[in-house]
Amino acid sequence: VCPVGAITELSEIEKVWAALEDDSKHVLVQTAPSIQATLGEEFEMETGTVVTGKMVAALRRMGFDKVFSTDFGADLTILEEGSEFLKKLNGEGELPHITSCCPGWVKGAEHNFPDLLKHLSSAKSPMQMFSALSKTYYPDQTGVDPETIYTVAVMPCTAKKFEKDREEINGSDFKDTDAVLTTREFARMIKEMGINFTALPDEDFDELMGESTGAGTIFGTTGGVAEAAVRTVKEKLTGEPLERLNLGFRGINRAEVRIGDRIVKVGIANGFKNAQKLLERVRAGECDLDFIEIMACPHGCVGGGGQPRPATNEKKEKRAQGLASIDDTSKIRKSHENPQIMKLYDEFLGEPLGGESHHLLHTKYKARPKN
Ligand code: SF4
Repeated sequence: VCPVGAITELSEIEKVWAALEDDSKHVLVQTAPSIQATLGEEFEMETGTVVTGKMVAALRRMGFDKVFSTDFGADLTILEEGSEFLKKLNGEGELPHITSCCPGWVKGAEHNFPDLLKHLSSAKSPMQMFSALSKTYYPDQTGVDPETIYTVAVMPCTAKKFEKDREEINGSDFKDTDAVLTTREFARMIKEMGINFTALPDEDFDELMGESTGAGTIFGTTGGVAEAAVRTVKEKLTGEPLERLNLGFRGINRAEVRIGDRIVKVGIANGFKNAQKLLERVRAGECDLDFIEIMACPHGCVGGGGQPRPATNEKKEKRAQGLASIDDTSKIRKSHENPQIMKLYDEFLGEPLGGESHHLLHTKYKARPKN
């Protein structure tokens, strides 16, 4: 169930099967960071088991033409959002900077905190950045006709189904995201096909938009977006790496980081009630934070409404540990060092916050009636 209570689960399984059976369509799929540590539960695997390779293999057997990773989109979000935050630290724009990659939280803000929308990052979520590039950059590099491209996103929540239909969200000349499947819907499709998931070999994501870093992966749990952003901002400003922030699972938490001659104050709130508490302090001018990460679901996306059930706190923590293990063992742990992201800027986008980036990767929010 959507944490903001406004979004219901409308299955798009049939639409996706129809696209996969349509020979005129070139069907791309992206999988959100958290899925790789939650999908295994649907197949009786230990909670938190990392199943990235089997997940990719299952998607290939289902008939997707290319299998990509939303973690690539997460790295891109960090480049754009980190650049925005840097500008705000330099006095261009209002602090605190507040993240906007959770559509459940963004919708809640539009209804309940319209006066604070100016603090939200204009960077689209990793899913929407990825989809905009699927219908622009991908055809530019491969020669595939963009009109034939159909984009599917496997996501942790139903809020993503609402997000893809926002009027202002499209950056390409088409609908950027055509269909969203939750983790449970994806698992149902694997079972419908009779795939023996646990026996699948490990396979790798496809090239071009399949490479990601540890920073992109930890987007799937609370504190991950803040940590990924500060990793890049600190290293870009000072050349020094960031020690772990360890913002943990508490509903509201904070950490301070020295970046050059400045102490940057970073906070998180997960769960809508905690977000409300923190934002009332921002509204009252009583909050000294510079960067705030908000996730509508307790524990972040590992606790999303589309994830395997039941989801106890213990299970969510094990899922988060699974994602942390990917980060710990990643060859590249900083978004700005992702070679496929560097190629994307060199050959297509130009620079973060540049004209093309702004057109494809940023969006707007609007006040909605209070609920
Ligand atoms: Fe969806 Fe993640 Fe936000 Fe929950 S925290 S609403 S799963 S994006």
